[in-house]
Amino acid sequence: MDSELSTRIMKAVDANFDRQIAFLSALVACPSLRGREQSAQDLMAEAMGGLGLAIDRWEMDADRLRALPGFSPVETPYAEAVNIAGVHRPQRRKGRSLILNGHVDVVPAGPLDKWTSPPFSARVEDGWMYGRGAADMKGGVSAMIYALEALRSAGGSPAAEVCVQSVIEEECTGNGALACVARGYRADAVLIPEPRGEAVTSAQLGVMWLRITVRGRPAHVREAEIGANAIEAVFPLLQALHRLEDAWNAPERRHPAFAALPHPVNFNVGRIKGGDWPSSVPAWCTFEVRVAVYPGQPLAEAQAEIEACLREAGAGLGGLDIAYHGFMAEGYELTGADDALGALERAHRAVNDAPLASVPTTACTDARFYGLYGGMPSLVYGPKGAAIHGFDERLDLESLRRVTQSMALFIAEWCGLEAA
Ligand SMILES: [Zn+2]
Repeated sequence: MDSELSTRIMKAVDANFDRQIAFLSALVACPSLRGREQSAQDLMAEAMGGLGLAIDRWEMDADRLRALPGFSPVETPYAEAVNIAGVHRPQRRKGRSLILNGHVDVVPAGPLDKWTSPPFSARVEDGWMYGRGAADMKGGVSAMIYALEALRSAGGSPAAEVCVQSVIEEECTGNGALACVARGYRADAVLIPEPRGEAVTSAQLGVMWLRITVRGRPAHVREAEIGANAIEAVFPLLQALHRLEDAWNAPERRHPAFAALPHPVNFNVGRIKGGDWPSSVPAWCTFEVRVAVYPGQPLAEAQAEIEACLREAGAGLGGLDIAYHGFMAEGYELTGADDALGALERAHRAVNDAPLASVPTTACTDARFYGLYGGMPSLVYGPKGAAIHGFDERLDLESLRRVTQSMALFIAEWCGLEAA
């Protein structure tokens, strides 16, 4: 791309940046927790309409997704679980097509008194925007819109089909992105601007959610010896799970893409509930665990290992139920993406005057659906964030500006441009 054009595009991002921040603030103000994504999706549909995209808005249907590879079991109904796609069609297709995908769902904010300012009210201070979802990943979502807006401001329009997808349920299943693949959306490449600190993701882990219920025997505490305490029974189970976690992190079990990381596989107890009364020996305890698997590690094999580990550690207990809900996600390693990576590298270099780093992540993203089940190279590249899923989550706004510029240049090269 000639440098006059790339300068024009980067300046267009700068010129629109105040509007982008205002849009992002409005998006952060939508409390798009699971089941409450509608207002965020309304904003996205409006923004896509403003870009002249053809809007496809549909409600997800678990029954239609269930049989597909990559589906994760859900417990909450999908009434009003809405996905949005906005499609740009060129006058004459010259370049390669592209999907820009981002999720608008966010994780719960936790105790509000630990936030410096309310999580669903964007606050900008010292170059950072604070708010739940500002980094993960409404910042990147704003970049999808404003990268296209910059091309338009610069007088161009992608010379290939571009599909902008605003999905839900990335944070618990990924079924939103799966629904996009199931709806038939295909492209020559996919770009997902998750907050990855301006590096491209070389590989990501898979994730499963388990719910383990331990049965005890209730009794009055005065004769505790005849009871079986279901809450205390959980601790040896957790220790056993952490021993399995250690085994999976051992060098001989590592996937090569994660060889350099100190501790790629994390098992996390994220939720626990049990008992009914302080003076009763608890008859039940339920805890939920997030486990991770490597790319290529079959989920069924991982489940068998985990279940054997739990059953052995819980052999003396009255009962142990193991159920899966939420994430049933395989790992994904980026391969066969040399052309797209080259284009992203050139775009990144034009903005940053530095090479594009390629880094594995110990999290999972929606990239797996496109890469594993859709045969589409799926790049994850987005701005720098901090305290993601924590208190005072924040997004580096200068990083967002650079990523928006890189995305606009990437689209311009990958898709080509025609006169707007
Ligand atoms: Zn995310």
